Amino acid sequence: SDASTSTDIAIIGAGPVGLFAVFEAGMLGLKSHVIDALGMVGGQCSALYPEKPIFDIPAHPQIAGQDLIDQLAKQAAPFEPTYHLGQQVTKLEKRDDGRFTLTTSTGKVIDAGAVVIAAGCGAFGPNKPPMDGLDDYEDSGGVQYYVKRRADFAGKKVVIAGGGDSAVDWALSLHDVAEKVMVVHRRPKFRAAPDSSAKLQALAEAGKIEMVIPYQLKGLRGENGVLSHVVVATLKGEERELEADHLLPFFGLAMELGPIADWGLNVDKNHIGVTQATMETSVPGIFAIGDIAHYEHKLKLILSGFAEGASAIHAARSYLFPDKEFHFEYSTTTGVPNE
Ligand code: FAD
Repeated sequence: SDASTSTDIAIIGAGPVGLFAVFEAGMLGLKSHVIDALGMVGGQCSALYPEKPIFDIPAHPQIAGQDLIDQLAKQAAPFEPTYHLGQQVTKLEKRDDGRFTLTTSTGKVIDAGAVVIAAGCGAFGPNKPPMDGLDDYEDSGGVQYYVKRRADFAGKKVVIAGGGDSAVDWALSLHDVAEKVMVVHRRPKFRAAPDSSAKLQALAEAGKIEMVIPYQLKGLRGENGVLSHVVVATLKGEERELEADHLLPFFGLAMELGPIADWGLNVDKNHIGVTQATMETSVPGIFAIGDIAHYEHKLKLILSGFAEGASAIHAARSYLFPDKEFHFEYSTTTGVPNE
């Protein structure tokens, strides 16, 4: 197999628990490749509560979700993990030689000696509005569920749909660069932070943002993957066609276990059963840690996930090198690279 995609440990999920497992693997001299469906690391902490303080991380009386992730990524960095982001692991197969082949949704194939599943509640993906033809405009960027670069919207006509914080915050942010921002929402009230909602209202009153209320998304018009109009309708069926270069639907994130359920593991109610001492699943060489792992009296906490990562990586090392004698050493003795 291709050397660049061959690794000791493949970690599925770059949430806090997967990131700490990279560090633990590195301390035992094992290389990691980490795959995540999201376009960024951080799992729930980054996607759901980046600014909320967490109070039960040891030695951090409080730390914001994103700050914890930044620190974990920094702690893992000396071990030079390879991140494969924006792709879901769709297939996991154990080969006759005891190693594993992982295939991702973008067609990447990774060869790994052992697998650690740190997949939380499953892969994150956007809740898509129920309308036809979305796929036709996703590749061209006509329809986007995350804003990657604000500059892409310079001079463009942008339709934002949704009533939560993402919709409101991006309307506020993009109205500076875009030619026109339209906000489609089914009712006048927004669920966003009151302060942001008030700012949106003020910009609407000043004619700087167009509110398209009470409308819902109905359809898309365009040619060859290039969006030209977003069709919206009221509940009574009154339609409008909004001239637009981009549609940004912000209807939250969904999590789904998805393909993991088909890998022949001991899956029950969206969790994978493991032996607690090693975090090994029913398939030798495949381990599960963090929110997705289940054993008796499991606590779904980040701090438990960290300890589970240490146990899993030590067990994975024994799986990879059953004959090698292992001398346990403290980090204070070994240090980390480049320190
Ligand atoms: P996650 O953070 O869920 O990350 C899993 C990652 O795996 C995701 O990024 C997902 O996209 C990816 N993934 C899944 N399947 C695949 C696949 N097939 N291919 C590729 N990628 C995949 N915990 C605490 O300890 N203290 C707190 O105070 C606390 N507060 C919280 C507040 C809120 C609002 C929420 C929502 C959670 C809170 N939690 C808290 C829980 C904590 O966030 C989780 O326990 C933690 O994120 C679990 O980490 P994880 O790495 O196991 O999984």
